[in-house]
Amino acid sequence: MTRRRVLVTGGAGFLGSHLCENLLDQGHEVLCLDNFVTGRLSNLDHLRGNPRLEIVRHDVCVPLDVQVDEIFNLACPASPPDYQADPIQTMKTSVLGTLNLLELARACNAKIFQASTSEIYGDPHVHPQPESYWGNVNPIGPRSCYDEGKRCAETMLFDFHRQHNVEIKLVRIFNTYGPRMRPDDGRVVSNFVVQALKGDDITIYGQGSQTRSFCFVDDLIDGFLRLMASPPSFTGPVNLGNPGEFTIRELAEQVIALTGSRSRIVHRPLPVDDPRQRRPDISLASRELGWQPKIPLSEGLKQTIAYFDRLLATESHELPETA
Ligand code: NAD
Ligand code: UDP
Repeated sequence: MTRRRVLVTGGAGFLGSHLCENLLDQGHEVLCLDNFVTGRLSNLDHLRGNPRLEIVRHDVCVPLDVQVDEIFNLACPASPPDYQADPIQTMKTSVLGTLNLLELARACNAKIFQASTSEIYGDPHVHPQPESYWGNVNPIGPRSCYDEGKRCAETMLFDFHRQHNVEIKLVRIFNTYGPRMRPDDGRVVSNFVVQALKGDDITIYGQGSQTRSFCFVDDLIDGFLRLMASPPSFTGPVNLGNPGEFTIRELAEQVIALTGSRSRIVHRPLPVDDPRQRRPDISLASRELGWQPKIPLSEGLKQTIAYFDRLLATESHELPETA
């Protein structure tokens, strides 16, 4: 293996910290860049003694000048409450941030990987979603800062590829969960697990008939690394996610069963533009990358529950309410 210098933006976040760890394990030098808006330095605590890891506080909206061989752009808040907290900054992060990183990739002759999302399919009319589906996205709603920002980033990736020959890798990530999610990030898996462990009410938004497909983080990172190592002719977009599809009510019931919790299920209003169904068609990833998720929801939930259980035991006095 050739040691490479790899920039990971959003490296202190949930997915970014797992990616940094895997890249260090492979022997690379990792430059982890983050503004810590939703990421935490503690996600990298166990790696900080590694001399091949450098951590820099930086906002990707500001151009940067570093020399790297590869760029993974993961910088962007990902949970709906997080990205809606400052929608203008979310849009700037996807648009200006990705533009700055594409300019950097061009200047360094580096390969660039962009973390896009199943949200670019919006509330889909095609099910499951293949990469060829163009989506059904509201351009002016509360989710638009994220969905349209990510769509714009996809466009810029392909324009830099066609206009300047930049080598691109575009992944559309479907709901991913696992250790190092923030307990208060507002996403459904972290909310339900923390609520169940604390004995709080489990908050289902709407009737809970909406569906999602949940991928365990280790499977996703394996897909990231396979995509980055694929031949230059394979640009994506490629879906990565677990095609097992569950209603939100089924998820709540599984979490209650696995934690043995006495929490009650309560209903809260469904957020505006909440997609009714979501499941990836992963035939392209399977064919081009030889990738299939291996960890079923029940197994991934057990690992996630164990993580939050440990976290609550050490931090219980500091945790905010989730309901
Ligand atoms: P996260 O919020 O844990 O991580 C995002 C990281 O980006 C954080 O560390 C945050 O501090 C950093 N960041 C945000 N804005 C920044 C900026 N302007 N400059 C520098 N750093 C910035 O979320 P995550 O789940 O780890 O998501 C990582 C990426 O994957 C995001 O781009 C997200 O859109 C994408 N994604 C994630 C999922 C998922 O299910 N986890 C699904 C689809 C797409
Ligand atoms: N959700 C829920 N209760 C919660 C948090 C989320 O019922 O406490 C629902 C949410 O309305 C959505 C699904 O769970 O239908 C997934 O939400 P999440 O925010 O994790 O991700 P999304 O896929 O919507 O971006």
